[in-house]
Amino acid sequence: MRELKSRKQVIPEYFDNDKLRDRFIKNLTNKESNLDYKKAKEDLEAIHYNKCVYCESKFKNDYMEIEHYRPKKSDKNIQNSYAYYWLYISFENLIASCKKCNLKKKNSFDIKKDRAVYQNEPLDDLHFITSKYNEIEKPLLIHPEVDENFEKDIKINKLAELESDSERVIYTIRTCNLNRENLKEARGVVIEDFKRELEDILSIAIDFIELDKLDRAIDIFKAKIDKFDKKSSIENEYSFVRVYILENIDEFLDWFDIKDREIFEDLVKLSLEEARIEKES
Ligand SMILES: [Zn+2]
Repeated sequence: MRELKSRKQVIPEYFDNDKLRDRFIKNLTNKESNLDYKKAKEDLEAIHYNKCVYCESKFKNDYMEIEHYRPKKSDKNIQNSYAYYWLYISFENLIASCKKCNLKKKNSFDIKKDRAVYQNEPLDDLHFITSKYNEIEKPLLIHPEVDENFEKDIKINKLAELESDSERVIYTIRTCNLNRENLKEARGVVIEDFKRELEDILSIAIDFIELDKLDRAIDIFKAKIDKFDKKSSIENEYSFVRVYILENIDEFLDWFDIKDREIFEDLVKLSLEEARIEKES
């Protein structure tokens, strides 16, 4: 889960037609919204980097679903379930989710304060009402496009599981089942590949050090770090793993079972430092 910097700013024209407005006014509870879902899907995919806002899996074929952050329907199987029927076409309330996260989340939406109620606001006002409602309700589920500063509360362990001390992050992980096997496996591949790449170059680096060529040893490590870092930008699948490792290098180094540990750790840290300096300049 990443904090999405690209946000919805303009309401697409398919939200702005008489037919849709008419239906919205006449029948708020109608599930058939007349919204051009095909276009909405395309827009959401683009805004959310063609991946699920919760698990970061890229969408393949028709894998993506339009998820209602605040559920449009209540669910008798869920405790304290509540229907935000008037938000069924609020642009901000629509997010791109994969089928697996959506299926697990269903219509869950627990809050810490008071439920928001519909006060006859026109559709235009409902498109960007999430922040206002969040103040009223204090929801537990994170909206990765609207909520800020939650990434720092997510941790990843060496089994590629997400962990947190934050109530909202824990709720979101549990509600979307972000530690399901296929995700742990996919994130684990990112971790293991990087570990192996670094382990594989250690003996060459040591040879360079013995020849008094520390710079060369650092260079080959830095090349691997640069390559890893390139894919840490948000449009990439499971980019959070990469961001987390690069920002918590000591923790990552603990995951290695390696001889020559001291040299290895020095090389990783020195090359990471160089990569950072180069990136900033
Ligand atoms: Zn997902």
